[in-house]
Amino acid sequence: MATVKCETCGGVYDQTIADGSRYFHTCPPLLKLRVRLADGTIELRDGRVVFDEEDDPRGGKRRTMKIAPPLKPGETFLEEVPVERPDHRDENVKGGQGRERSERKKDGKGTSTATR
Ligand SMILES: [Zn+2]
Repeated sequence: MATVKCETCGGVYDQTIADGSRYFHTCPPLLKLRVRLADGTIELRDGRVVFDEEDDPRGGKRRTMKIAPPLKPGETFLEEVPVERPDHRDENVKGGQGRERSERKKDGKGTSTATR
């Protein structure tokens, strides 16, 4: 059973799962932020949503959501949007006939041997 590292997303995985069947890796999507700018236009940008946990003066903890990097005045965070990675790898096979049937959908940047 070979353990490999995906050179696109950095994921490390075994090519065979516990029941002996083949695992077909697909890179997870990147998350982008959909933001409404001060002038009303909508933009997709790199960034992330982070949660801080702080003490609540009324007792317990409270979570606050922050956007990193911070939004500019007048900007509004709308949602996180999954976006396919450039060069993403998809080991699932094409549904065709003959030789094409066993070809993976996308190679991405390939894989390298990994050790756990
Ligand atoms: Zn990957």
